[in-house]
Amino acid sequence: MSIREFDSNNPELTFYIPGQPRRNAFGKVICPKCKKADKVYEIEYGDNPITVRNISLSGDTTYSPLYKGKYYQECLVRPAKYYCDRDKVKF
Ligand SMILES: [Zn+2]
Repeated sequence: MSIREFDSNNPELTFYIPGQPRRNAFGKVICPKCKKADKVYEIEYGDNPITVRNISLSGDTTYSPLYKGKYYQECLVRPAKYYCDRDKVKF
């Protein structure tokens, strides 16, 4: 697996990106940074990425690429397969 793009300039990240995602005892992929699985989403690539529009009670509208437990992204580059919402890292 080659790394072509980083979302962060932190070179520490290179240590954490394995060729194969690591999984916990339940078979869920764990984040290489926080070592937890509960905020990890599989990244779904497609030509029409789903964006979820959230309107809060105060009327603010925010957009989220997280939908039904997956993180949606356009299929331009595919450097990562999973996304941790806690650390905002893809791996
Ligand atoms: Zn994490």
